[in-house]
Amino acid sequence: MSGFRDAFSSSYAEARQKFLAAAADAGLAVEAKPHPLPGLHGEALAMDVARDGHPDASRLLILSSACHGVEGYCGSGVQVAALRDAAWRARAAEAGVAVLYIHALNPYGFSHIRRTTQENVDLNRNFHDFSAPLPVNADYRELQPLLVPRNWPPDEDNVRAIADYIARRGEKAYQSAVTRGQYEFPDGLFYGGRAPTWSNRAVREVLGAHGRRAGRIAWIDFHTGLGPSGVGERIYAGRDDAQASARAKQWWGGDGQTPVTSIYDGSSTSAFLTGLMWTSIYEECPQAEYTGMALEYGTVPVLDTLQALRAEQWLNAHADAPAPLAQGIRAQVMRAFYTDTDRWREQIVAQARESLFQAVDGLRA
Ligand SMILES: [Zn+2]
Repeated sequence: MSGFRDAFSSSYAEARQKFLAAAADAGLAVEAKPHPLPGLHGEALAMDVARDGHPDASRLLILSSACHGVEGYCGSGVQVAALRDAAWRARAAEAGVAVLYIHALNPYGFSHIRRTTQENVDLNRNFHDFSAPLPVNADYRELQPLLVPRNWPPDEDNVRAIADYIARRGEKAYQSAVTRGQYEFPDGLFYGGRAPTWSNRAVREVLGAHGRRAGRIAWIDFHTGLGPSGVGERIYAGRDDAQASARAKQWWGGDGQTPVTSIYDGSSTSAFLTGLMWTSIYEECPQAEYTGMALEYGTVPVLDTLQALRAEQWLNAHADAPAPLAQGIRAQVMRAFYTDTDRWREQIVAQARESLFQAVDGLRA
């Protein structure tokens, strides 16, 4: 992945064009799932899927980007760099591992510089059985009136009230209350929805079409916005199952590696979450032995990330916001989820590449 610098993009349209070109140069066909809405600049949106390897391969590695829309500026760059990496492609092929690139799980958020889907849904809280009772987040309910105030920037009372909350309960409790997911306020933050979103249905179709012939499946889903700048936290992404989490720890957190963290034992910078996207693999590909992780790259301090999301939520409810304010908020959201430096991009690609090779070794073993 030596040509990492220009693998990344500054708009969804540019990222899509680079992905399609890299797939074409690799001799791969791309299957597009067209999105019903246009992008921020009127461009067409789609979830694009390229498979590198035999259709009946028994080992499958899934690499996906933009579960959280704007986080796709990072994940897309990794995917493009991987498609251009002949040594990587040769290694997967010789191990009999087919690689499935899912570009822009949530193309709407990617283009509109939002973390959520067009339904204002956090896709990674949207995988529930909606006929059953949904989780209740009472801590969020208490914070909701403060989080998205009538005016932005927030007034002094609002700033003080949020600061008081953090002083009393702690930063971790604030993060958990806000980010855990909530199903009560459709216009709020980290809303999980009341039905499967477009992206949820589309990714299930992709998994069903590509995953049912594989005996072993690995999945790396690329995220940003939590943890120290440029550091990729390897967060186990699967059921609370001792065997599967031990496998993930062995593959990606072995000798000399940063340990694989977990939302089940409090070792992750992420709060405990439900409705996660990986639950779909058990439902769509029940025959497979599944091993997965989220690779979560740090950008800015978590309170800055949450502040950017509050601003963006306000903007989303105020289409008549003055253009300079809207542009400022979108720039703030970009900075929270993507660091526009070669140093950061180099760190991202190096850690991703290592985890890709480790996944192939794990699948082959
Ligand atoms: Zn994310």
